[in-house]
Order: sequence, then C-alpha cells, then structure tokens
Amino acid sequence: MVHLGLEEARALALQCLLGNGFDQANADAVAGRMIQAEADLCHAHGLFRMEWYVAGVRSGRVNGAARPRVEPLAPAVIRVDGDGGYAPLGQQAAYRPLAECARKNGIAALAFVNMFHLAAMWPEVERLAQEGLCAFAFTASYPYVAPAGGTQPLYGTNPMGFAWPRKDALPLVFDQASSAMARGEIQIAARDGKTVPQTAGIGPGGEPTTDPNVVLAGAQLGFGGYKGASLAMMVELLAGPLIGEFLSFEAMDDDGGKGGPPKGGELILALDPARFGDPDGFLAHGEKLVTAILAQEGTRLPGARRLANREKTLETGIEIPQSLHRTILDLIGEGARPTRR
Ligand code: NDP
Repeated sequence: MVHLGLEEARALALQCLLGNGFDQANADAVAGRMIQAEADLCHAHGLFRMEWYVAGVRSGRVNGAARPRVEPLAPAVIRVDGDGGYAPLGQQAAYRPLAECARKNGIAALAFVNMFHLAAMWPEVERLAQEGLCAFAFTASYPYVAPAGGTQPLYGTNPMGFAWPRKDALPLVFDQASSAMARGEIQIAARDGKTVPQTAGIGPGGEPTTDPNVVLAGAQLGFGGYKGASLAMMVELLAGPLIGEFLSFEAMDDDGGKGGPPKGGELILALDPARFGDPDGFLAHGEKLVTAILAQEGTRLPGARRLANREKTLETGIEIPQSLHRTILDLIGEGARPTRR
C-alpha cells in the first residue's frame, strides 16, 4: 500500500486530471469528490475511478471543460444541464439554487441531466441536511441487475440516498444500492482475488456463484429479492423518464459498448421541515428516534462508519494499493507526453 495525506492525494488527483484534458474547474470538482470519498474510506468512489474518468475525457465522450447550466422549470423544479461533463461540477452549481428553492417552497426537486457518472449519493444529501433540510437522491447507471425472476442485466445498481438533519450532530444519512452489492465493490473483490456472497449475483446462464468475475460477466441481483428489484425499477423511472434522461440500458447503448462512464441523470428532492407540520419540534422529535435506535445493543446509525473514518483519516491520511498509485503515475506520464497535448 502507498500512504498519502489527504492533501497529497488531492494534489495527485488534480495533477492527473489537469494533465489529461480536464480544465481547472472540472479537475477541482472531480478531485474534491474523489478525495471526499477516500476520506470516508468509500474507495469504490475514490481514486480507484481515476482510470475510468480519464478514459472518458481522452475518448472525447466526456467534456473535461464542461460549464453546467442551471434553469428553473417550474416553481419548485430546477434543471441542471451538466454540459456533458462529470457530475461534481454540476452538483456544485445546483446546490445553492436547490437549497434556496426548498426554503422558499417547502419542497424542491432538482433534475440533473447530461452528466457522467453520479458516483455516491451521500455527499449531496448530507450537505443539504447540514443546512437543516431533509433530502433524497436517486440515480441509475448501466444495466447490471436482473429483474426479479430474470437472469439478464436490466436495471442499474441504482442507489438511493436519504439525509435527515440532526440537533448538534452531523446529519443522519443512509446511501445504498438497490442491488445486493455495489458494482465497484464487486470489481474491487475481483481485483483483489476475493470471493463475493452468493446473494451478490449469478453467472451468465443464471447459475449461482461466489466468483466476482463470473458475476461481472453475468448479472447482479437486487437486495432482498423482488423488493430490491422493485426499488431499482423505481429509481430507473425517477432518474430516467421523469427527468428526461436515459434508462440504464439506454445509457449502455449510448456508450456503444466502450465501457466508459454512464451518461445519465440524478433526481434530488429537498424538503424544508420548517415548512411542514412541526417547525419548532422536528429536530428534537427526530432525536427521540435516534436515541431509541441506539438504546438497543448491536445497533449503530447508518453513516456512522463513514463519519468515524472521516475523523480518523483527517489525522492518518489514506492508503491506496501500489498498483493504483502506479496507474495514476502512468496516467500523469502519458498525459505529459506531447502526443496527448
Ligand atoms: P452499503 O451496503 O455498504 O451501506 C448502505 C448503507 O447502510 C450505508 O448508509 C451504511 O452506512 C448503512 N449501514 C451499513 N451497515 C449498517 C448497520 N449495521 N447498521 C446501520 N446502517 C448500516 O452500501 P452499498 O454497497 O449499497 O453502496 C455503496 C455506495 O455505492 C453508496 O454510496 C452508493 O450511492 C454507491 N453506489 C453508486 C452507484 C452509481 O451508479 N452511482 C450504484 C450503486 C451504489 P455506512 O456508510 O456508515 O456504513
């Protein structure tokens, strides 16, 4: 493993992105989001994605100099057109208008379109809840998950994030795929030569397996059988047809089988509890639930692992596999060669 301080990791990511077709604004936003994921030890959305991100821009499919545009569609609906770039810059541009719209109307919806790779849902919802809002986020991706009873990939692993503001504490957040396992985790298991639980997926002929490579060639499964599959279906509709973006299989067709990052959308909903039924009491009332959860032995709050990691890595920094470090250095070297300029 290679040890990196958080700032060192950010500088490495920035150097790699800037040398490979990203302008300063896009590189800052993408590197910031990657290191935010690394700091919470969510490696599947961290530097592990660098090769994929760079390949998208190098191929010309993703706009490394995107300038996202924010436009109101209805009193409580805002659209952000990501200008074909990676999501983090569009998400930055959308954040303030969304929060203000929710405060004004009590509720606001944000339709992100024309962006690549939405990564994790927790950064957006956590930030909104830090301002006292309650938030939901949904995105689709590529067809990886079989519908209930089927064997062929159709749905994305379609995550959903939820955040609730807390009194004198960071927001309560859960962020989970509708598949039994996030695809990035299966890819990391394949990279590290590990097995995955049999519930994670099936082989190309529908056969049970614990080999991550066989699952990657076959189909992933929804969590909890048909219930997870129905949630994946819901997310497809919310982050696709509702906002005028691709379904997961349409995103795959759009990529033309090149294996680049998925183009698509994200729906974010923000609700201002101060405009609902209990403006003065909702925070204390929510704390009653938190206290009751934690009163039971064996429980922890969703998000608690990430927040503990965040506190730790602030002091210790992070570790990444030597092979990943080498890959990033190679990408920096390739980006610096005259033919790439
Ligand atoms: P996990 O199954 O690891 O965790 C899901 C949620 O459950 C987290 O909020 C987690 O909190 C919480 N949790 C875990 N264990 C417990 C417990 N014992 N008690 C209470 N809460 C618990 O996440 P996934 O593998 O489903 O997803 C990982 C990430 O991948 C997410 O950020 C998701 O958005 C992202 N993703 C992105 C996709 C995309 O296409 N963009 C597709 C699929 C996933 P904690 O974090 O603190 O452990």
